[in-house]
Amino acid sequence: MEKTVLVVGLGNMGAALAETLLGAGYDTWVWNRTKEKADILLQKGASWSENVWAAVGKVDYVVMCVTNYASSVELFSTCPELDKKVIIQLTTGTASDANSFEGLVRHKQGLYIDGAIMAYPSVIGDQNCLLLVAGSQEVWAKSEALILKLGGQAKYLGEEVGAPSHLDHALLAPSIMMQMAVIQGMHMAQRAGVDLDFYSKMMASLPVSLKADLERHTRAIIDNDFSDVQASIRTWKEALERVLEEGQTSRINVDLLSGVNRMLALGVEQGVGEQDIAALTKVMS
Ligand code: NAP
Repeated sequence: MEKTVLVVGLGNMGAALAETLLGAGYDTWVWNRTKEKADILLQKGASWSENVWAAVGKVDYVVMCVTNYASSVELFSTCPELDKKVIIQLTTGTASDANSFEGLVRHKQGLYIDGAIMAYPSVIGDQNCLLLVAGSQEVWAKSEALILKLGGQAKYLGEEVGAPSHLDHALLAPSIMMQMAVIQGMHMAQRAGVDLDFYSKMMASLPVSLKADLERHTRAIIDNDFSDVQASIRTWKEALERVLEEGQTSRINVDLLSGVNRMLALGVEQGVGEQDIAALTKVMS
C-alpha cells in the first residue's frame, strides 16, 4: 500500500491531520510557513520538507490545509510536475475555488480530490469524524484508505469537486448561527444581571424543544407545506421587535437579531406572515 504523504499547512487543522496520518503509520513529511509549528510533529517522527515542495518527489499524496485557496494557489504556483500524485485539498473554499484548483492540479499532471472537513481538529482521526470529498472515482479509490484514517465517516460525493463546498456551506451556516445564538443569549443574560450558571442550565434544556422545531421545519420545507403553524412569522416579528426595543434602551447588542427581524419583516411584506417561520425559505429565493 502507498503510505507516503506530504502535509502542507500545520495550523490547528493541518497539525491534527499530520499527527493522525503519522499515528496511522504513514511516512509523513510536513511543511509550514512558520517552521516552529512543525516542532512537535518532528519530535513524533514526521520529516521536514525544506521548502514547500522539496519532499513532493518522495510522496504519493499531498494533503493541503491552509487558510484559504488564495494561499493554496500562491503556494501551488511553484509546485513541480506531479506525475500522477494525488493532491487532497482540505482548505475551506467555494465550489469555484475547487474547480479552478482541480484545473491547476491537472495542468501539472496531478490527480485531485477536494474535501471539506466537518469537524474540529480534536475529532480528526475519530470513527465519527465526517469529511466530505469529491473527485474522479479512480482517484477516490486511490485515496479512500488515507481519507478514512482522517475521518471514519468520510463520504464520497461524486466527481463534481465543488460538491463538498456546497454542502459544507449549508452545514456551516446553521453551525455558526446556533453557536452565535448561545453567545447572544449569554450576552443578554449578562447585561440583565441574571445568574449566568442558572441561565446556562436553562439554555441547556432548550435543545429538547429545539429538536422538535428543527424536525418540523425541515419536514415543512421538504414537503413545501407550512400549514402546521405553532407561531406565525407575524407573531415572531412582534415578539422580536420588543427584544430590539429593549436592546436600544439597555445597551444590548442586537445586530444579529436585527438581521433576523429584517427577514421576518420581508416574510410579512411578501404575504407569508400567517405561516410558520419555515415559510421564510420562500422569501429567501
Ligand atoms: P489556522 O490555525 O489559522 O492555520 C492556517 C494555516 O494556513 C497555517 O498553517 C498558516 O501558516 C497557513 N497559511 C496562511 N496563509 C498562508 C500563506 N499565504 N502561505 C502559506 N501558508 C499560509 O487555521 P486552521 O484552523 O488550521 O484552518 C485551516 C483550514 O481548515 C481553513 O480553510 C479552515 O476553514 C479549515 N477548517 C478548519 C476547522 C477548524 O476547526 N479549525 C474545521 C474545518 C475546516 P502559518 O502557521 O505560517 O501562519
